[in-house]
Amino acid sequence: MQELATDPAAILHQVFGYAAFRGHQQAVIEHVAGGGDALVLMPTGGGKSLCYQVPALVRQRAGQGVTVVVSPLIALMHDQVGALAELGVQAAFLNSTLEGDEARRVERELLAGRLTLLYAAPERILTPRFLAMLDSLHERGKLALFAIDEAHCVSQWGHDFREEYLGLSVLHERYAGVPRLALTATADAHTRADIVQRLQLQDARVFVSSFDRPNIRYTIVEKDDPKKQLLRFLRDEHEGDAGIVYCQSRRKVEETAAWLEGEGIAALPYHAGLDAEVRRRHQDRFLRQDSAEGGIVMVATIAFGMGIDKPDVRFVAHLDLPKNIEGYYQETGRAGRDGLAADAWMTYGLQDVVNQRRMIDESEAPEDFKRLQRGKLDALLALAEAHDCRRVRLLAYFGEDSTPCGNCDNCLTPPGTWDATEAARKLLSCVWRFVQHHEQGRGPRGFGAGHLIDVLRGKRTEKVVQFGHDELSTFGIGADISEAQWRGVLRQLIALGHLRAEGEWNTLALTASARAVLRGEVPVQLRVPVEPRARVRAARRAAGGAAAGKAPPLPLDEAATARFMALKAWRAEVAREHNLPAYIVFHDATLAEMARAHPATLDELGAIGGVGAKKLEAYGEQILGVLHEAG
Ligand code: ADP
Ligand code: ZN
Repeated sequence: MQELATDPAAILHQVFGYAAFRGHQQAVIEHVAGGGDALVLMPTGGGKSLCYQVPALVRQRAGQGVTVVVSPLIALMHDQVGALAELGVQAAFLNSTLEGDEARRVERELLAGRLTLLYAAPERILTPRFLAMLDSLHERGKLALFAIDEAHCVSQWGHDFREEYLGLSVLHERYAGVPRLALTATADAHTRADIVQRLQLQDARVFVSSFDRPNIRYTIVEKDDPKKQLLRFLRDEHEGDAGIVYCQSRRKVEETAAWLEGEGIAALPYHAGLDAEVRRRHQDRFLRQDSAEGGIVMVATIAFGMGIDKPDVRFVAHLDLPKNIEGYYQETGRAGRDGLAADAWMTYGLQDVVNQRRMIDESEAPEDFKRLQRGKLDALLALAEAHDCRRVRLLAYFGEDSTPCGNCDNCLTPPGTWDATEAARKLLSCVWRFVQHHEQGRGPRGFGAGHLIDVLRGKRTEKVVQFGHDELSTFGIGADISEAQWRGVLRQLIALGHLRAEGEWNTLALTASARAVLRGEVPVQLRVPVEPRARVRAARRAAGGAAAGKAPPLPLDEAATARFMALKAWRAEVAREHNLPAYIVFHDATLAEMARAHPATLDELGAIGGVGAKKLEAYGEQILGVLHEAG
């Protein structure tokens, strides 16, 4: 057995099998291992776990005791601890899923100082029993570090607020001197300030990484027939891939999952209304199904996904508009953690805009909260309506400057635009005529989108004739513009806040800002809807022919591919034996590198990225055997 490494770089190499730190990892680790507080903002897949796991090892090996990891994700603790066990790191978790005996055993290990990391949910940490254990460790100088994961949960303004996180200020107050590290993948300036204030991290060093996820391709399509659009996207680009489809309501989740199943796609529903046991089972199947067997499509509300560390999620699709850019970025960020090509795809339409605006207007929240929500929605709508690079806009939202990415729909297939300024004036003046007409005692005040477009296009429907709207000066003034285009104009005007959809029937009303548009002072530029199929093909051509996500981790020749498949079969067996997802045993990328390099000795095998000392010891001989047999 090698001597235990004590400095960060050696630990990275020996325990995790990685050659070098990424981004801010080294700076964070040195700062925290040295006893400093830190706030780390790093995108999903950026490597946050190492930021506390390496300091935990450094400090434990220096006799400073255990690192307590606060995480809201009980469902994932088992796998996280399992992954550490595979690396030979003493870790455990305490949460409500443990039997009494098992929990007692973990507590004994903890108090005896045998653990390097302990994962626990915040509500557990705040119990008197748990605090008493921490007190005891603290008195003996055996409390090395607090790592607070998903730290944005402390922000009431954010989208994942958890009451219990507010209680975490106790860590600072009761155990002053124990370093604290807060980590999150989502935080705009507002949320960031909230984290600092609520967790009292005013003196912490802040590490902000680039939020860019270059391997994710962003695409936002106009909603036409969303189910069909989704099916086409799945069939054309993600056959057999694991991915997530987000819907807003439980009912829509159920419907969509059943519909996909009917279309021959392996799909499972997930939402807060399902029995806990069913949810656990579905999540488990999603996480454990190996890509070789064909992935599962999880159809879910946002109740699903926080902290999902499955590396090979190849796409995240939104059938409904999220609430804001943080939500969108967090959800889409679950794709492609392994760094390979992945898709973030969304359909977006008039109804989404109307619904989201309405939800804010009708909520009981205080006015300043609503104002903030409206601002955040506006930023998301601007992203959806954009005709320039999506990534530039996303990153700008998080305060980062960048240049066009070449890997989003707008970069790959720049949409045409048309000048809709005149059309917008026509539309608004038609709404204005309705109001006048009403004031003359001739019909209701407001009408919905369908009727408005009928009038503009000069259709004499029953309703149009009934209200005498065929006599309006705006009747038929937009016959040359298609219905789809009119919907685009309408959506844009609502998105920009010049029109509002009110009440049960979504009747349209002008807002104060409509006046400037009516006067022609506000230019309105709209995307020319691109036919979706053409777009997909063009995007693929630009990507060099390979469907996104189908690219193998490495190009392998025939013999290497055979070795890769043999290694995968071996890994599936080990994963079953250990009751862990396959990717925890080894990532696809690591197996591919083994297949390519074809090592003949343990030393050569140990040089491959992702093979640490413990895994080499446990599996080295077996792997060399598998490679030898596969030729
Ligand atoms: P996050 O929690 O930030 O979303 P993770 O900590 O799960 O990300 O890391 C994402 C992936 O990157 C993991 O598979 C991890 O093993 C890998 N990784 C992290 N840091 C390194 C590194 N320095 N070298 C190689 N792989 C790394
Ligand atoms: Zn782009």
